[in-house]
Amino acid sequence: MTPSAHDTIVAPATASGGALAVIRLSGDEALAVCDRIFRGRRPLAQAQPYTLHYGRIVDTSDEPESGSSEQDVERTTSADIRPQQRERIIDDVVVSVFRTPHSYTGEDVVEISCHGSSYIVSEVLRLSLRAGARMARPGEFTERAFLAGRMDLSQAEAVADLIASSSQTAHALASAQMRGGYSDALKALREELVHLMSLLELELDFSEEDVEFADRSELRLTMQRLDTEIQRLRDSFSLGNALKRGVAVALVGAPNVGKSTLLNRLLGEERAMVSEIAGTTRDAIEETVDIDGVLFRFIDTAGLRRTNDRLEQMGIERTRAAIARAQILIHMHDAEALGSASVREEEVQVPPGGAQHTIEVVNKMDRCPDLTLPVGAIGLSAREGKGMEALRKALRKAVDTERLYQGDTVVSSARHYEALASAHLSLSRALEGLDQHLSTDLLSEELRSVLYYLGTITGEITTDEILGNIFSKFCIGK
Ligand code: GDP
Repeated sequence: MTPSAHDTIVAPATASGGALAVIRLSGDEALAVCDRIFRGRRPLAQAQPYTLHYGRIVDTSDEPESGSSEQDVERTTSADIRPQQRERIIDDVVVSVFRTPHSYTGEDVVEISCHGSSYIVSEVLRLSLRAGARMARPGEFTERAFLAGRMDLSQAEAVADLIASSSQTAHALASAQMRGGYSDALKALREELVHLMSLLELELDFSEEDVEFADRSELRLTMQRLDTEIQRLRDSFSLGNALKRGVAVALVGAPNVGKSTLLNRLLGEERAMVSEIAGTTRDAIEETVDIDGVLFRFIDTAGLRRTNDRLEQMGIERTRAAIARAQILIHMHDAEALGSASVREEEVQVPPGGAQHTIEVVNKMDRCPDLTLPVGAIGLSAREGKGMEALRKALRKAVDTERLYQGDTVVSSARHYEALASAHLSLSRALEGLDQHLSTDLLSEELRSVLYYLGTITGEITTDEILGNIFSKFCIGK
């Protein structure tokens, strides 16, 4: 049985540990459920929307709570004296009232602000459940907002991203998506496609007469334009994903060149182990740090060198994998070793990876202050913290966030990326078909799948499975 769309759900909206907590109720009975446990000046049923109400959450139960038997005895005795229903005060609270359709979910919504005790929160939840609400599934508030048409699917997903955002750029991404910039771009694409399809379908209606309503060369131009835009969106994912998860940076170079020391400097704490013995950094360590609004994910890697040590070899394998994933490589050289051919030999070539940028740095400049740096290299003393600002600037410059701030749509969801990639494939097939004089019905079928894939992003087309996948990743109370 699927629960009715408007049954009343409840969940804590805040994480535990704060001074205050918010418990949220949404659904047809939200006000009625709350009235059963809330004592204010007036019942909430009479409350205007967008009003706050001070009062108390009370437990009116005659049933003693399971647990303390001592309390049971006390209750029985006091019941002899005061036979009326007893109300145990749980907390002094402020309740906010929102009424359908002008609320987050589009339904009646009540938010109870109480003290942030985990006991109080669980009592308010328990009482709400007893008063007729049911526990919300993860993401159910936002799912309801989507189903009520308050936002489209990509906007709903952006809510989760916004809550998870931990840097200025990740926030800017989620915020733009939540405000519908992306949805508008997709809507425009879909409208063009629908227009194209209507022309093609008109041809199908008159198929006997062999007419072409859609001028093929114009059709091709429009499809190419759509494809360019779809590809641009698809390709923006590498930036969007990096900004959301952190731009992966691999520190590579010979053992003892100072990778761990540099990582510690960048992170500002003693995270990676520093040692005099070559080959001590066996695990790839990942840490994130915010540089000027961009989250970077640093991967300290086992020193790259030829070795027979099994464990160390495994570390080197991980290094190669990390490098293959990294967007930026910091290639470290030892100032002292730079001129010495014998040491250079020991250094294994940096394996070719997917990195878009390599920053060459020469470390231990404190040992060779007069060394002439190779062109484009940054001189460092990781131990003394010299040259760090130049390195941070080079890192930040390697990530082009201009697009983000110029209002360009940047895709940051793997689901959207997949959909765009599929849309592009269908569109390329349709373009190919156009060259090969594919029949109108097959052409329009390909275009229909483009429409389908774009529709899955904003949720015009959706299935329970898609929704389940998206909202189950949300946390409770969202
Ligand atoms: P890794 O093997 O590349 O991770 O190198 P480590 O960070 O473990 O450093 C190896 C040795 O070089 C340690 O003794 C560090 O203290 C030393 N070291 C690192 N950076 C510098 C530096 O800038 N100047 C000097 N003189 N020594 C450094």
